[in-house]
Amino acid sequence: MIEFQNITKIYKGNKRAVSDVTLSFGDSEFICFIGTSGSGKTTAMRMINRMIEPTSGKILIDGKNIQDINPVELRRSVGYVIQNIGLLPHMTIRDNITLVPKLLKWPEEERAEIAEQMIRLVELPVEMLDRYPHELSGGQQQRIGVVRALAADQNIVLMDEPFGALDPITRDALQDFVKELQEKMGKTIVFVTHDMDEALKLATKIVIMSHGKVVQCDTPENILKNPANDFVRELIGEERLIHSQQDYITVGEVVTQHAISITKDKSLSEAIRLMREKRVDTLLVVDNQNILKGFIDVETINEQRGKSTIVGDITNTDVFFIRKKALLRDAVQKILKRGLKYVPVVDENKKLVGIITRSSLVDMVYETIWGEEEDGLSAPTETMTEVPVKEQEEV
Ligand code: ADP
Ligand code: MG
Repeated sequence: MIEFQNITKIYKGNKRAVSDVTLSFGDSEFICFIGTSGSGKTTAMRMINRMIEPTSGKILIDGKNIQDINPVELRRSVGYVIQNIGLLPHMTIRDNITLVPKLLKWPEEERAEIAEQMIRLVELPVEMLDRYPHELSGGQQQRIGVVRALAADQNIVLMDEPFGALDPITRDALQDFVKELQEKMGKTIVFVTHDMDEALKLATKIVIMSHGKVVQCDTPENILKNPANDFVRELIGEERLIHSQQDYITVGEVVTQHAISITKDKSLSEAIRLMREKRVDTLLVVDNQNILKGFIDVETINEQRGKSTIVGDITNTDVFFIRKKALLRDAVQKILKRGLKYVPVVDENKKLVGIITRSSLVDMVYETIWGEEEDGLSAPTETMTEVPVKEQEEV
């Protein structure tokens, strides 16, 4: 738990950057500080690990005044990620991942262990630990950058506009990834951004700042429903406010279609039989726990027949998916942006729960905007037979 008690920071020259801020956050929250440039976000965040000392007021972590915690101890529990995550090019992936653990003087064996754990988290082979950043794809490098921030196993991680310089698709994928890791690992993340879409997507708590003061601190949902004043309203954007109700529909609420899947230990002839029976040309591949592993398609089976016999051997693991808890509005954007005909939907453990098709999405979007159509003129429905999963890098 993090508490700000009447925190004020006045810089030399009498610049009041943060003004009497009182806040409290629970464990495992994803906290986003948002506001215009110069509103005091970075200053507020950096006081949490004492990179900046407050002029007055107290910050408590788990009830303890951070002034009473020795700085080395504090840095063991609070990590910091500077703007625009990048890997150090002259260091191996292993050395990049274990940079902070090394600074914190972790023993060798523990560093080796965490490096392996982190590379597994990004679903890359352990051998890659000894490669250099330029030998990995851009997407792989960025994912390593994100897990590096978590490698030192600090309970609290501070991130200052980490995705600021990325293109929208990469940024979107990394947001998903960091959110997924945060939920999985139960970390508390304090994240600075100036992008409301980013804050709404990631945060469990949003802190809106203006001129060093907190204007509003609440869940994304409550901020959308009850913006504190015109400043907040403007930050959210009028248009979004009107649509905020629809915005909060999750993918899980609209998954209707059953996914046609096969476990990876099945034979290729079984896969073909299933495809014929269900009249589809791709199958999603899952393991025995129904965890999504990828997909197979007719072409690959034809090419690989004779060489391999098991579904798992020819599974394309580069499968794009959406989490059940994701917002429908984000899902719509992604599907449209990527030109996908359907996407698998998974739960928090990556278990397959169903699919949503592009056409069902289009229908839903029309319904929410125009209401139910009465003349029966809805978009033509596509069947899965016509919709191969398009190969996508999931970054
Ligand atoms: P944000 O991250 O929201 O852009 P900052 O916390 O970086 O805002 O800055 C808040 C205010 O404090 C700004 O007006 C900025 O110019 C000022 N400021 C930040 N750092 C210093 C400093 N080291 N010395 C003097 N003024 C500073
Ligand atoms: Mg800043």
